Amino acid sequence: MKKIGFFVLLAALIFGLSFAGQASAQTSGATIILDGQALSLQKKDKIEIIKGSVMVPLRVIAENLALLVTWNQQNAQVKILTGTGDIELTIGRMTASVGGAELKLNAAPVNRSGTTLVPLRFIGEAAGLEVGWDNAKKVVSLASPQTSEPTSAPTPTPTPFPSASPTPSPGATPTPVPSPSPVSGGQIKGIGWSNDRLAISFVGSLVPRTYAAADPARIVVELPKTSFDPAFASIQAFDAATQSGAFAVTDSSNATRVRYAVTDTDAQTIAITIELTGNKSFTAYQEADFETSVYVIDLKTSATPTPSPVNPDNGKKIIVIDPGHGDGDPGGVGATNKLEKNFNLSLALKVEALLLREPAFQVLMTRRDDTFVPRPERASLANAANADAFVSIHANIADGKPTVRGTETYYYKNSGKALADIMHKHVLGATGFTDRKVKNANYQVLRETTMPATLLEVGFLSNATEESILFSDSFQDLVAKAIVDGLKEYFGVK
Ligand SMILES: [Zn+2]
Repeated sequence: MKKIGFFVLLAALIFGLSFAGQASAQTSGATIILDGQALSLQKKDKIEIIKGSVMVPLRVIAENLALLVTWNQQNAQVKILTGTGDIELTIGRMTASVGGAELKLNAAPVNRSGTTLVPLRFIGEAAGLEVGWDNAKKVVSLASPQTSEPTSAPTPTPTPFPSASPTPSPGATPTPVPSPSPVSGGQIKGIGWSNDRLAISFVGSLVPRTYAAADPARIVVELPKTSFDPAFASIQAFDAATQSGAFAVTDSSNATRVRYAVTDTDAQTIAITIELTGNKSFTAYQEADFETSVYVIDLKTSATPTPSPVNPDNGKKIIVIDPGHGDGDPGGVGATNKLEKNFNLSLALKVEALLLREPAFQVLMTRRDDTFVPRPERASLANAANADAFVSIHANIADGKPTVRGTETYYYKNSGKALADIMHKHVLGATGFTDRKVKNANYQVLRETTMPATLLEVGFLSNATEESILFSDSFQDLVAKAIVDGLKEYFGVK
């Protein structure tokens, strides 16, 4: 199952670490009621009414409306992920982008001593909530839409964007955006820690409520209507009796342990806790692209500049090999629970070994071990190195269709088509699987790379026969050689 992805860059959701002293929302005389309950706000949460718009701190939106909120300091830009399309607001700007359409605001977002205040009504409506305003009592009421449990993987049907009070700016046509996805209904496939990032991979939809807490210092991700994938317990530590598990973090000065548990069986709530060495700030974002989506809590303070091992001046073609997924993102889980991330890495390392023997090529790997690397980082590594080709290695999953099998190859930009065609010919020749052809898809690593890029889905792990073949060492040797042969043909190397 494939989903067109979204990714939030430069997310910054920095919470106050003390949750003591909560008060109900009555600052500035305004009360906010969500689904009949007055919002519980911190004393420091300042609410203002500007030009008739109730302005609330971003934190209030993130925590109470369970929306993923990110903040780009450089551009003074706020991005809010909703099931109906991303909302983008800029401090001081009277228009906002909702699902790509520009809409006028009654009041622009403002910064008040480091706190960003945003228009509650606008965001509530854009996120599909019913918003009411009692001017006499100064009460904002918000009501969640009625949601139904998904019976199977729901296919979003495009519907016009729900009418919001702001009028579209002249010339702007509101883009139809998918109808709201169910409030939640996700299955966790993996949880991992690498490089100061917690990666939670899932299928379905996840509406995380993420917050920091003190004594002891920790970050908690609460996931309502979420369950562990049946295969989860076979992938990592999990005690079926207590419905919980944990692993130690050994490579970080920020965290010591990650634990996860079903905390509310009725509401199917799972809590994932990062035990910290002290109060830490973090960013949170979601990636949704391939077989699984990933929710990331990122404690990295700055992007680690990786010195490029490639030499741009020696005339050798720079090939980036990208083993898909990694660590907490297992990718597809096969018919007998073999993990896609392991296949991808194993094959990629074989390709690397062969490329290192080719005088015409130098090779750059996006990962060389079981590490989670966000997709934009994979693309930017290749872009920064001025690579000549990008080859992403994956294996496929067809949920609920164990007989589906075959080899398919993807490109997105036209610049990648010739590479994809040649790679497909060689890889298909090696696998001998059903020819599922070369296809076009808007995958992030294909979209964001600036050089010819292709993504290989070598075979189907959800098919028991292909799963067993894919993990065979001699088969991987053949496919690795085919990938190198394809690159040689593409670059005209003898
Ligand atoms: Zn994959």
